[in-house]
Formats: sequence, structure tokens, C-alpha cells
Amino acid sequence: MSNKPVQNRLYIENQLLKGENVRFIFSPNFGADFKKKLPDTIIFHYTAGPSAKSAISTLTNPTTRVSTHLIISRKGEIFQLVPFDKIAWHAGKSRHNQRKGLNRFSIGIELVNAGRLIKKNENYYSWFKKKIGLNEVLQAIHKNEQNFSYWHRYTAGQICQAERVCAILKDRYNIDHILGHDEIAPKRKTDPGPAFPIDILRENLL
Ligand SMILES: [Zn+2]
Repeated sequence: MSNKPVQNRLYIENQLLKGENVRFIFSPNFGADFKKKLPDTIIFHYTAGPSAKSAISTLTNPTTRVSTHLIISRKGEIFQLVPFDKIAWHAGKSRHNQRKGLNRFSIGIELVNAGRLIKKNENYYSWFKKKIGLNEVLQAIHKNEQNFSYWHRYTAGQICQAERVCAILKDRYNIDHILGHDEIAPKRKTDPGPAFPIDILRENLL
């Protein structure tokens, strides 16, 4: 017998994720039900904002007409805003292989992260002027760019939860594709960016 603590189990019931540190908060921003055999894709995003609270506020506001299925906070808490059988509005104008408009095919996952950072006098700041600690800064070249930028790192807890959620979604919905917003709208979008290990996630899960 191992004496490791039992990891809290996540599961899906009635199109909702259940488990410890998971909460459903209704968003009115969703469309029709997915067609048969869909969704088969997961799309990752960063929120480019300071907190899960601010992301929830934007993504549940009916005037924004944007949403997501899941938000994962810096601490690894999970918020679901749209049931998995309904189309959420996270991808916008987008394309993958022969498909256009990826909302109709995909589950959206937003990770709380400030995105690209600005360096000023040896300090790093988000676009909303929050100072970011050095240990949370990654210098890297985005796959769609040529030059180095500074990026907000994801927390280990976030990446771990993202991987667990992908595994559960894959079992339940036969997920074939795990993509970044920056891969389906490369001219418009930089999220989730180089700080998110999407290649490793794909390799482990698909
Ligand atoms: Zn995005």
C-alpha cells in the first residue's frame, strides 16, 4: 500500500465536471448543442488578466458575448461556465485543417495568466501594470514570432489540472486534437503561448 494521499477524483456528470475545487458558475454566453460525435477538440487559452474572478466576470457578462467551458486559476481551482454539450464562444475567427470556426468543434479551457510581459528597469509587468516576480517570468520565442519576449509562467498546479482535465475529457468525448488559440488563429492570437507545454500535453494524451 502506498501512503500517498488519495488524489481528489475528478469526474463528469450531466455534462459538468465534478470534484474537489470545481465549481459551476452559469454563463449565458453559449450557443446550440454540439452536433453528433462532437466536441473532438480542446482549445487552450490564457486569460491575459489578473485573476479567475476577473475572467469569470468578463465571461459571464451577457454584453461581452464571450465564454469558455473551463477556467483554471493560478491555484488550480476549476470553474465551469458552460456545460460540455453546449457550444461556448472562445475561439472567434479560427481555422484548423479544413475546419473554420472552431467553437463548433471544441471545448475551451482558459488558464489564468497575464500573457506577454513588459520589461522596465529590470522589473517585469503585465499589461495591466501588475509587477510579476522573476520566478514567474519566462523568456522565450513564440512559435509564430521571430524575437524573444517575456511571458508569464503557468503554475505547476495549473498545468497538472490542465492535464487531468484533458485526460477526463478525452475519455468522455473522444478528443482527437489539443490545440492552442495561437495555432487556430495565429495572426490574431498569442495564447496560451510558449509558457504552456502544449506539445508535451499532446504527446502524453493523444
Ligand atoms: Zn484565446
